[in-house]
Amino acid sequence: MRGRRNRQRDHHRGAELTRFDVLVVGTGHAGVAAAIHLRQAGFAGSIALLGEETELPYERPPLSKDYLLGTRGREEFRFRTADFWADKGVALVPGERVERIDPQARTVACASGREIGYSELVWTAGGRARRLGNAHVIRTLDDVDRLKEALTDARSVLVIGGGWIGLEAAAALTKLGKRVTLAEREPRLLARCSGHALSDFLADRHVREGVDVRLGVADIDSSAFDLVVAGIGIEPEGGPLLDAGAEGGNGVLVDELGRTTLPHIWAAGDVALHRNPFGPDRPIRIESVQHATDQAACVARAIVGAPAPYAAMPWFWSNQYDLKLQTVGLSHDHDEELVRGDPASGRFSILYRRKGKVIALDCVNMVRDYVQGRALIERGSEVEASLLTDAERPLKSLLE
Ligand SMILES: Cc1cc2nc3c(=O)[nH]c(=O)nc-3n(C[C@H](O)[C@H](O)[C@H](O)COP(=O)(O)OP(=O)(O)OC[C@H]3O[C@@H](n4cnc5c(N)ncnc54)[C@H](O)[C@@H]3O)c2cc1C
Repeated sequence: MRGRRNRQRDHHRGAELTRFDVLVVGTGHAGVAAAIHLRQAGFAGSIALLGEETELPYERPPLSKDYLLGTRGREEFRFRTADFWADKGVALVPGERVERIDPQARTVACASGREIGYSELVWTAGGRARRLGNAHVIRTLDDVDRLKEALTDARSVLVIGGGWIGLEAAAALTKLGKRVTLAEREPRLLARCSGHALSDFLADRHVREGVDVRLGVADIDSSAFDLVVAGIGIEPEGGPLLDAGAEGGNGVLVDELGRTTLPHIWAAGDVALHRNPFGPDRPIRIESVQHATDQAACVARAIVGAPAPYAAMPWFWSNQYDLKLQTVGLSHDHDEELVRGDPASGRFSILYRRKGKVIALDCVNMVRDYVQGRALIERGSEVEASLLTDAERPLKSLLE
């Protein structure tokens, strides 16, 4: 099998230590992409994909959508089969949680007591759902299995948090016939990541679907509900790296190639604090499949000696009811929000601008704008507002 030949066994503190050429920690979107892109780039050394979860690596987006709804089974969103990983010579190491890293010895120590060595460490440990008392969360397959079981006896559900996951959960639970109340602390939905027009549109739509949307709620008595789900964000899983001296805080700081400040240690995905060429002038974290996948590919290329700075266009999607929401670009620090089309029609887009340049679009059932808007962002277009908001005019016709 490819890859295995470079795996070495060191004698370490009396015990045998398995050492991989590349050890990937975290089996989510970024970890899986790192391993696959290494092989695609011709990397012939040994690779291990180690993670805390015991499941064969799987995609997360269906957890708050079709899997929660029950329209897609758990076997339908595995990234790859066990045979694929074996065939690619990627050793899966499930059920292990890394607790400490020794960057000098190039070893990691797991909660089980197991130690593993590496030549290059790729840290793709993502984030852990923030907890709120005994409320259910939606981050892993196990979380959703527990939630689905508890739902059998529940009629009324309180969803805390009006971010993407809270909104998707509210939509799925409503479709499942539950009486849903959605409580958000901020005065509007999606306050952290979108503008006012989308917040207002979604609040209206959820209300029309029967959700009791409560905004600006600092505290709510959850005892009145049969079940509580919290969608209040994640804590990035950077602990062992930060303890070992890596720079960071709310995540682990990486440069344009995905290098942390520790030698031979890289990071990508939800955990990576980075300067994004499409973002504001400060390090940010991005929680999306696109970012996890593309940044991990960037790390893989750098490891095989073909470095190219991370410069992928950010994009994101969400499904709620019959709404297909698509975002391209990053709207951080926008100073203008232009609505294109009529929200009442259920098909429209929002363009975000900073200093006159288009930096992002949110598209609601408007795939054409989503596809064509990308070029406006790439070129930093400064088109007149009246042209951008003319929904009859295709965005591609506005490219200078
Ligand atoms: C319910 C849900 C719906 C989503 N929907 C969308 C969507 O529609 N579109 C979109 O673009 N994005 C969506 N996202 C976001 C997207 O899934 C994440 O951005 C993506 O999963 C990040 O990938 P990652 O590999 O960085 O981290 P993760 O997917 O979080 O993977 C990290 C893995 O590392 C493991 N791990 C953590 N710490 C350790 C440790 N110390 N030792 C060993 N293993 C460890 C974890 O168990 C986990 O398996 C959704 C996320 C969720 C939770």
